[in-house]
Amino acid sequence: MRAGRKAGYPRFKGRGRFDTVQWPAVKNGATWDSQPHEPVTRVYLLGIGHVRVHRHRRVSGTVKMISVKREGARWFVVLSCDDVPTEPLPATGVVAGIDMGVASLATTSDGVHLDNQRHLAACADRLAAAQRDLARKERGSTRRRKAVARVAALHARVRRQRLDGAHKAALALVRAYDVIAHEDLRIIGMTRSASGTIEHPGRNVAQKAGLNRSILDAGWAVFLTILANKAESAGRELIAVDPRNTSRTCSRCGHCGKDNRLTQAEFQCVACGHGAHADVNAAKNILRAGLALREAAQAAWREAAVFRGAEESWYGSRDWPRGYQSCCPGMPGAAGGTPAAPRATAGSSAP
Ligand SMILES: [Zn+2]
Repeated sequence: MRAGRKAGYPRFKGRGRFDTVQWPAVKNGATWDSQPHEPVTRVYLLGIGHVRVHRHRRVSGTVKMISVKREGARWFVVLSCDDVPTEPLPATGVVAGIDMGVASLATTSDGVHLDNQRHLAACADRLAAAQRDLARKERGSTRRRKAVARVAALHARVRRQRLDGAHKAALALVRAYDVIAHEDLRIIGMTRSASGTIEHPGRNVAQKAGLNRSILDAGWAVFLTILANKAESAGRELIAVDPRNTSRTCSRCGHCGKDNRLTQAEFQCVACGHGAHADVNAAKNILRAGLALREAAQAAWREAAVFRGAEESWYGSRDWPRGYQSCCPGMPGAAGGTPAAPRATAGSSAP
């Protein structure tokens, strides 16, 4: 609720508001693969019974929670597991920075562009037609209910396509690089500002709304979450750096200026004449900031280890302490047991 507003009367929450049910997979609450001797997979849910499911992938770890989710006419079983074994990938010895964009989803510092499939834009005409159709229907009618389902199905399709693309792009990055530095994008902050509030209406509303739609259609947030999960499972390092000035600083001489940027795609340094693709140049800056941050974190760790009198245990082990990853947002368990691991962003802690 917004600050300064009065709390209202509790809202009636009809059955249309809910589409997930959860069972804890302990005792007899629910069991995955409840009849393993049968050729088909079944899931047992307390109060419902054994339900046949289509298993499309191997389940590893211990199932802790079983959710049943409805999306339109489709039903899904979602398993949350503990103790999922990690699958570390062999080291490649290559590090990279990635610049997130709208033209390409991400560009790496060695010049690889990951394609941005604009699924929402591709679907926009059909979606608009479906929404117009919906608007003409009488409230509470069967035809309206069906029209709602058609709009929802289109949105669900875009969502699945975006997820699929994000998984493929993230897997490619995790396979190719040991260390990946990316922009610490506060996506909510970047995309909230268009219309503003009643007290402070926004400027250039239509333009900003268009950019916001492109940013959200690119699915940066989804992509970064998936990348973080894959990196953790594969034993890769992910570093979030402060994105300020990365797109207008020269990656060769460090000159920072607005006029370095000729067009959206072209970068030309006014100080040293260095020319490059703007996204590749930005990705190189992100990589440099990420490596500086990593260096600072390692130094802080060594200092902390000396301070605790634990030199042997630290210098003796080649394994990097997991706490270092505390500079990556969204990584579980990162903050635990990290003495003096810097949480600052690259702008302030780079030596
Ligand atoms: Zn330069």
